[in-house]
Amino acid sequence: MQFRDLQKQYAVLKDEIDRSVQSVCSGAHFISGPEVKELEKHLAEYVGVKHCITCANGTDAITLAIKAWGLGEGDAVFVPDFTFFSSGECPASEGCTCVFVDVDSRTFNMDPIRLGEAILRVRKDGLYEPKAVVAVDLFGQPADYPKIRQICDKYGLLMLEDGAQGFGGEIEGRKACSFGDISTTSFFPAKPLGCYGDGGAIFTDNDEWAELLRSLAVHGKSGNDKYNNVRLGINSRLDTIQAAILLVKFKAFRDYEVRDINRVADMYIDEFKRSGLDDKIVLPYVKEGFYSSWAQFTIRLPKGLDRERLQSGLKEQGIPTMVYYMKPMHQQGAFANTYSAQADCRVTEELCSRVLSLPIHPYMTDEQVRSVVEGIMIQKK
Ligand SMILES: *Cc1c(COP(=O)(O)O)cnc(C)c1O
Repeated sequence: MQFRDLQKQYAVLKDEIDRSVQSVCSGAHFISGPEVKELEKHLAEYVGVKHCITCANGTDAITLAIKAWGLGEGDAVFVPDFTFFSSGECPASEGCTCVFVDVDSRTFNMDPIRLGEAILRVRKDGLYEPKAVVAVDLFGQPADYPKIRQICDKYGLLMLEDGAQGFGGEIEGRKACSFGDISTTSFFPAKPLGCYGDGGAIFTDNDEWAELLRSLAVHGKSGNDKYNNVRLGINSRLDTIQAAILLVKFKAFRDYEVRDINRVADMYIDEFKRSGLDDKIVLPYVKEGFYSSWAQFTIRLPKGLDRERLQSGLKEQGIPTMVYYMKPMHQQGAFANTYSAQADCRVTEELCSRVLSLPIHPYMTDEQVRSVVEGIMIQKK
């Protein structure tokens, strides 16, 4: 069994993907070819925002947003403590000070109450000025944007949605990557919508920021002139071949993959309940009115259960599992001895020692789901 079966997906889409890649090779327009523009148009329409700017990866997407807002030295940026490193790495690399905020134990997403507290603490300490929130759609479920937006408005903070894991998710019918003042996503192969290498995108309704982001992504170009450089930028573009692959994969994603992966998640929950394991194991929880694109299916193991032993037992049965994430952000060595290391994030610490992510993808069969749940039952005996 595969953790995320990209080979099976390719087998289904092979003819169309091969044709699409071939056509880019024949046309030889490898950088900024017409497929890139076409993809941006489709993605903006799907998300329901005015502008989509593709770039080289999800990390650059966040960095470009931070650059476009001119954030840096002296600015505090609030980031969930339980996330992939990029969410904090990018603002910190631009000179911002990350303030890590604890998460909700059921949704795994930034706890709005703890965000409010963190903002007041930073104000009181007076060392850094609160400027922005990076909210993350962890494991596919959008963060609590209705509440986070209120807090951002109250304190005059910009809101960035790191939707690297959330593409395809929704709140009350509104799509992920439309909630931030700027939103970002990643097309890393294992993300909900992945390409065949690295890729990313940025979304915004703001015309000025959109133009600035396009400039920053191509060496600070002026308008369409890449040899007239009016600011310092980076080189961050989505390859035409990746765009061509994404055009095919996006259709499958939109038309059935998000639906099918939700069916797999529902099946997992039914099977766990039927097995009775759900009285000890905490199952993933999607809030009322929210819709997840299930980047991960992450359970919380009971206290005292040996996670490593469970993992190696499952591995022997051919069932791969992963731990996302082992370490709270505030404990990462990169932030040692900085203001960012000072964080009271007990929920995250607990989660890091107890979460386990199980195989999930849109092409997973009922039998496979059953065998994972049975595997856990056998190992727990
Ligand atoms: C994967 C990921 C990123 C970075 O995306 P890349 O395309 O790998 O650079 C950023 N934030 C989160 C939450 C992610 O999961």
